[in-house]
Amino acid sequence: MKITKVDIMMLKPNIDTVGKQSSAFDKPQYFSPVVCRIYTDEGIFGDGEAALSFNCGASAVMYMIKDMANLVIGFNPLENEVIWDRMYRQSFWALNGGSVISAAISAIDNAIWDIRGKFFNVPVYTLLGGKKRSSLRSYASQLQFGWGDELNPAKNTNDFAANASKAVKEGYTAIKANFLVRDEKGNNYTDEDRTGFVTSDFLNTIEKRISAVREAIGDNIDIIVENHSFTDSQSVLKLCERIKKYNILFIEEPCVPAPETYKYISENTSIPLAGGERIYTRQQYRAYFENNSLRLIQPDLGTSGGITEVKKICDQAYTYDVSVQLHVCGSPIAVSAALQLEAVIPNFTIHEDLVYNHIKAYKDLCVYDYSVKNGFIDIPDRPGIGNELSEYALNTCDKITVK
Ligand code: MG
Repeated sequence: MKITKVDIMMLKPNIDTVGKQSSAFDKPQYFSPVVCRIYTDEGIFGDGEAALSFNCGASAVMYMIKDMANLVIGFNPLENEVIWDRMYRQSFWALNGGSVISAAISAIDNAIWDIRGKFFNVPVYTLLGGKKRSSLRSYASQLQFGWGDELNPAKNTNDFAANASKAVKEGYTAIKANFLVRDEKGNNYTDEDRTGFVTSDFLNTIEKRISAVREAIGDNIDIIVENHSFTDSQSVLKLCERIKKYNILFIEEPCVPAPETYKYISENTSIPLAGGERIYTRQQYRAYFENNSLRLIQPDLGTSGGITEVKKICDQAYTYDVSVQLHVCGSPIAVSAALQLEAVIPNFTIHEDLVYNHIKAYKDLCVYDYSVKNGFIDIPDRPGIGNELSEYALNTCDKITVK
């Protein structure tokens, strides 16, 4: 079997189907997933996603996949290790990882795994060693954007509590939010507000929100605090000191990822550190394992090198007694691929169910809808990753073809 053609697509979710947006302040951020479809001379194709769709990077990764596709045309997609190493070493710039180039490798590698599964007529989890679990505990992710089938960004303390309560009523036993986006008047916090010698007013506001969420959802639900690296080490330690009494499951991306800074933070707070959506390849992860700073890693199959590489990162983590939650922020193609790996790895902890997964415009991008029910998501048993792009997605996307 040989790879004959690669289509690289920027998908166009139909945001008109999302629903009302009441003001510019409430305007949600939408993103256009970047996906590739790899074709073979045996009629089998595979879909894989790069996870650089939000903020900057989508068009860059689209063209990086185009360049990378030239390295894989004519190769046998069953030989994923050969192809992965070729992309890593022959592209010159991939060594040691990087956001755009690792995301391009990821998209191609994930599509290759989809082909491999379809060729052997088994789910990818079988090729990865077997399904250890059939259903994954999931958390409701990024409640600052709202929760449900439309985005209603949280503006104040009550909104955070209401969004968390809504998710818990649906059966989730864990929730995550970024509490640091806006102040109570709706103005965006600046970098100055969130770093250095942060004010008592800032700390009081964040603590009040987390306290209100804890009060609303009770003591038996886990709270994850998402920092998106907004804070620096000094301010996040002040924040951790304030919020540790609310029994935080972990704090995510406390500051700009750097092994020594994470080590310093981890040694000065009892709240476990999570991170990884901006750490790429085995080489970059190694330092965080060796210094024991990250207790939960969050590699993204769409940026950390694809299934081939992330499986190795997860195994590496296991030897350091570190848990895994895959970072998932993309179309249902990204979700479906993540389920395959999370079903297999022994150190899986919890699945991320992003608020965007609940929006019809994103569900419509793929043929199958794998949704969380009562706080758990079932592992699909279809061949490959168990999903593929819908006719809508294929007919409305921007596309580049390499053959
Ligand atoms: Mg995050």
